[in-house]
Amino acid sequence: MTVYNFAAGPSTLPKQALLIAQKELLDYKGTGISVMEMSHRSKPYQMIHDECKALFKELLNIPDNYKLLFMTGGATTQFEAIPLNLLNNSGKADYMVTGNFAEKAFKFSKKYGDTVCALSSKDKNFTYIPTWDNNSFREDIDYLHVTSNNTIFGTKFNSYPKVAAPLVVDMSSNILSEEFDVNQFGLIYAGAQKNIAPAGITLVIVREDLIGNPLPTCPVMFDYKTFADNDSMSNTPPTFVIYMALLTLKWIKSLGGISAINKMNIEKSSILYDFIDNSKLFTNSVQPDYRSLMNVPFVTPSKELDAEFLAQATVNGLITLKGHKLVGGMRASIYNAMPIEGVKSLINFMKKFELANS
Ligand code: PMP
Repeated sequence: MTVYNFAAGPSTLPKQALLIAQKELLDYKGTGISVMEMSHRSKPYQMIHDECKALFKELLNIPDNYKLLFMTGGATTQFEAIPLNLLNNSGKADYMVTGNFAEKAFKFSKKYGDTVCALSSKDKNFTYIPTWDNNSFREDIDYLHVTSNNTIFGTKFNSYPKVAAPLVVDMSSNILSEEFDVNQFGLIYAGAQKNIAPAGITLVIVREDLIGNPLPTCPVMFDYKTFADNDSMSNTPPTFVIYMALLTLKWIKSLGGISAINKMNIEKSSILYDFIDNSKLFTNSVQPDYRSLMNVPFVTPSKELDAEFLAQATVNGLITLKGHKLVGGMRASIYNAMPIEGVKSLINFMKKFELANS
């Protein structure tokens, strides 16, 4: 039986990338050893590192005045690294609280300066993205923080506020899924374990002028300058994860790049939302304009039926569909690597379940 994994992260990786990793596992390109066993100072590893950076740059169209860093500690560590590096002028920052992780980022920042929640969608359990105008944010902030895709609630930004201050974005759950202009952001960060690689690196893309003026209390290993000056090798990087990221990026390139993968993501999510919207049993409560292409939460009318659905889905090879406890029900995470066949299988199963239970 084919198993489709709808986990929110760590999540499905491209099969093609896994097959290459399997083939190269014991003997990476004639070196006689695995990438896992290789010194990060070795030539073959340096080539992986450089190619991975170059492909990120190419696929995301990253301008030369941005540094690309491979950090660790997950996106959560960035919730503190960001204020520690950027709250260096007025000491003020504004946050848009559009989900659980956005709220956590805001809460963690408070320790380091005058940070406020400028806009929130908590009033409706984060089922929309609040709109903004010229007066939504303070004028003298050091940065504005947003979360492009809200993994738990299944919402996403379609455009971003234009502010004088650097815009900082947590793209953990939708980086590489759609095209965007890097220039509109001062800093972009993303944990690896959804669209990039297995867990273990956090990608940070930061404009050069924002590096090098951290708060005096900023630990050396949170300082972007440490990573920028040492090619992200000031200590041992998660070499195998960076290798897996390279394989994922090669896979994306082979499909035609981000615009091609975005078309696939639109198709996958549209057929699922269309089915849910026409269903008599399943509902999705996100305002349609803000629906995520990556995370699709849905419920049946009762908790008992949700539990039954999850149990039967698992038996049918459709796994890790349980929704986050803040939303309940189900959540299908359909990142880049989820094939359309997986989404079609899920819809077919939902159809059968609906017939049997309504
Ligand atoms: N931000 C977002 C949008 C997330 O979805 C997650 C977790 N999946 C995090 C931050 C936290 O990431 P990590 O577990 O890598 O620290």
